[in-house]
Amino acid sequence: MLTRLLALAAVAPGLVAYGKKAPGRAACTIEELFESSVSPATEIASSTDANFSSVVGPRWSAWEAPAWSGAIKPATEADLQKIVQISVENNIPFIATNGGHGPKQGQGSFTGININLGSFNTVSIDTANNLVTVGAGVKLWDVQTGLYNVGKEIQTGNSICPGAIGVTIGAGIGMMTGMYGLMIDTLKSVRMITAKGQLVKASATENKDLFWAIRGAGVNFGIVTEATYGIHDQTNEGNVTAVTFVYAAASNRTLWKTMQTFDGNQPAKLSFQTVIQFNRASNASQIVVQLWYFGPVSEAQPYIDTFAAAGPVVQSVTYLPQTDLYYQSETAGVCDRGHIISAHSLGFNQTVVSSYEAHFADMTAFYIANPSFAGISVFQYYSNKQTLKTPASETVFPWRDIQVWWLTQNQYSDASLGPQVDKFMIGQRTNLQTTSGFDTPHVYFNYAFGDEGAAAWYSAANLPRLRKLKSIWDPNFVFGNGAPLY
Ligand SMILES: Cc1cc2nc3c(=O)[nH]c(=O)nc-3n(C[C@H](O)[C@H](O)[C@H](O)COP(=O)(O)OP(=O)(O)OC[C@H]3O[C@@H](n4cnc5c(N)ncnc54)[C@H](O)[C@@H]3O)c2cc1C
Repeated sequence: MLTRLLALAAVAPGLVAYGKKAPGRAACTIEELFESSVSPATEIASSTDANFSSVVGPRWSAWEAPAWSGAIKPATEADLQKIVQISVENNIPFIATNGGHGPKQGQGSFTGININLGSFNTVSIDTANNLVTVGAGVKLWDVQTGLYNVGKEIQTGNSICPGAIGVTIGAGIGMMTGMYGLMIDTLKSVRMITAKGQLVKASATENKDLFWAIRGAGVNFGIVTEATYGIHDQTNEGNVTAVTFVYAAASNRTLWKTMQTFDGNQPAKLSFQTVIQFNRASNASQIVVQLWYFGPVSEAQPYIDTFAAAGPVVQSVTYLPQTDLYYQSETAGVCDRGHIISAHSLGFNQTVVSSYEAHFADMTAFYIANPSFAGISVFQYYSNKQTLKTPASETVFPWRDIQVWWLTQNQYSDASLGPQVDKFMIGQRTNLQTTSGFDTPHVYFNYAFGDEGAAAWYSAANLPRLRKLKSIWDPNFVFGNGAPLY
């Protein structure tokens, strides 16, 4: 016990000093502080315990990994309430996580405990009323497959591994955005635990202000334990046309021009993303385009022909169930954990060919100068006509005018490359901003690096209301690590 106590103090000096569960003691272990207040099924471990790795929430990127001093995996909502209350009373910082896909700049210096939401993993589907309710530990895959199996669907992110609620509370974009809008646009209600440890509901009729704030800035207001969404009947019996093209570097300008033809008139059922990457075998950059169409190949053919005309060196047409398509994120390694990967992002409302061309040339030069850099630069194209049907005032997420979501995933094995990568990518972000079509940066928080600031994530116009709500629901900044509102 003494060893554990000292170890805890060494990792986080004073972390649980004067814990109320151990009166008269200068410090106590995480187990001593929480164990008697939670149900036996709740798992608790300090970072030096043998079972720590099974209690702590898994993390996707090794970039900016917090130095957890301990972890708790609550079994029930009541346990979670107690954990929040005790942590706040004892001044113990915590971050609640699920999929672990949301690293932000500065989190590497966070010291405190992890609350692993993984046990809240139920998905309840009400087909009669077209509703699905998911717990805080549910991953996108659970929702995608659960609904597919009953002939329903919902707009989600494109991968299977992120946490469903974590994606939602930023906005939630993906290949069905064109058809249904953002994940927050189909969110009906949530149950959440506040900084006081209270369990509250938020919806269009209950705690309306809070419901506005958690649809975009959800990481700042509490822990959502359960979320209920509207769902849709399956499109095209759940089948998708998915086409992969690979273009050589020399075709980049032609490809950007092709993509430009979709500005402002992208069909709802058509989504695509282009991925700039470097082929170390041929020592050249290349561009992979993934096109998705929620209909038969015959309907998608005009769009396939459009991209084929840009001269790909590889073209592969498939027709498959949407769950098989989502699962490709697993087989393609997108969900692999443990690499150092940071992200930079920006939204555009137009495709400026010269700007894309310059970015492609800069990326190529950076790849060549840095042989260990294995990052990618992605342009995601989703029609935003449906997204714009929800009034801007409905949610704190403000950027319904984004048509192109630019995202880099900066992967490198040598951590010392980090500052150079960040400098380069921040430069690219500045360059691309000038032709984004927006006067101020429009940044999707869930793709953000973390340095952009609250006005870029939530708009300057929304900040007074957002900050007022923060002062009501979380005046002592218990939540929102990595997402400062000031
Ligand atoms: C491989 C990959 C693919 C992605 N694909 C998409 C995509 O297609 N579309 C898209 O929109 N986004 C996508 N994202 C971004 C994703 O939306 C964010 O990373 C999101 O934060 C992931 O949530 P998480 O639970 O996995 O992460 P975590 O790291 O567990 O959580 C991220 C943040 O959300 C908070 N949080 C998590 N759960 C809750 C909760 N229940 N209540 C309150 N706060 C909570 C955490 O405290 C933390 O601040 C992707 C990210 C990655 C790495």
